[in-house]
Amino acid sequence: MPLSANTLKFIFCSFMLLLLLSACQVATTHLPEEFQNDNSALPAIAGMQTTIDDIAGSGGNLGRLAALQKQIETRGLAPYLSSQHIDWYGLQKNLIIEIPGKSSQIIYFVAHYDKTDANPLTFVSLMLNGFLDTLISPIFLSDGALDNATGVSVLLELAQQRSRLENYYTYRFLFVGSEETGLRGSRVHVARLADAEKASIQFAINVDTVGVKGAENCITDGVSDPQLSYQAIAAAKKLGYTLESDPSPTYSTSDYLPFQELSFASDFAYGLQLNFVGGILPQRSWFADPGSVPVLNFSSCGIMQSSADFITSFLLPFGQLHSFRDSAELVDLGELYELYLILDGMLGRIEKDGVNKDPFYRIVKHDGISSIQPVSAN
Ligand SMILES: [Zn+2]
Repeated sequence: MPLSANTLKFIFCSFMLLLLLSACQVATTHLPEEFQNDNSALPAIAGMQTTIDDIAGSGGNLGRLAALQKQIETRGLAPYLSSQHIDWYGLQKNLIIEIPGKSSQIIYFVAHYDKTDANPLTFVSLMLNGFLDTLISPIFLSDGALDNATGVSVLLELAQQRSRLENYYTYRFLFVGSEETGLRGSRVHVARLADAEKASIQFAINVDTVGVKGAENCITDGVSDPQLSYQAIAAAKKLGYTLESDPSPTYSTSDYLPFQELSFASDFAYGLQLNFVGGILPQRSWFADPGSVPVLNFSSCGIMQSSADFITSFLLPFGQLHSFRDSAELVDLGELYELYLILDGMLGRIEKDGVNKDPFYRIVKHDGISSIQPVSAN
């Protein structure tokens, strides 16, 4: 999740101290004992563990991209894979796994694979729309395990699960790059979608920084569509889990944003807000037709607020995210598995409704944001 102007202006101060810190060794996730003999849970949990360790242990953002691609191939998902150039400011790409269904209606899942550090070099790079990323991301102190190898790991498991089933909906799993440098991967992806394609998107679920040790997974209120939130909470309840809600984030944002609202005006405004002067450099995502898709965002409870608060308070990159503290040791695989089951349960219900010809009913509210209506209101 990128930080806004208020937060980033403080980060300059930390430069000298950061240079004194040496690179730490990469920690790995620990498989909890309770799952070691659980035959129903073990394949998914072990899969997520491998994904996180591979991505977190692969250095800079291009290494992470290569590790993700390898994970996709290892899981037999290569036939569904395509990649997408992001922009001329960097070498990162978006990877897309599309699992076809009977219907051409699309359900999106989104997670970013890139990472960042809170330091003055990344701040400069941010103002150049991520131009220095290839050079500087291999020396980041952060492993980017929590933010956001966790989200990627949950989505990869879901993609693999969907690829084994006969689906009604078409599922598009979008693994975006350049999220930490101004949501550039998701903004350009949505901007490039044709109008008809955009109209066939039912909703988009974004997963960013989940399964953080000591925190429950949360739905992000305000951002998330009420009907989708209701369906996720119902799926959790059926499994005997509780799903909490977090207030709308003040300091950070994530890849749900361009799905929720995209037009020339909004994209230009995001550019200025997220990349400062970089926002006035020419970019493809300016050329976006207006559109809005209902979204649902998952993050660990408190994380979208507290990480930015912490950095702002201490003027140093010592928050739980975007710093050396973001390591695989802090991943709770049990929480990740819980979220995977909740999403899988939610899809099970949505698939059933889809087969029963119970389509989503969408309205666009007065503020231009698209929302799903309860089936009973249709
Ligand atoms: Zn993130």
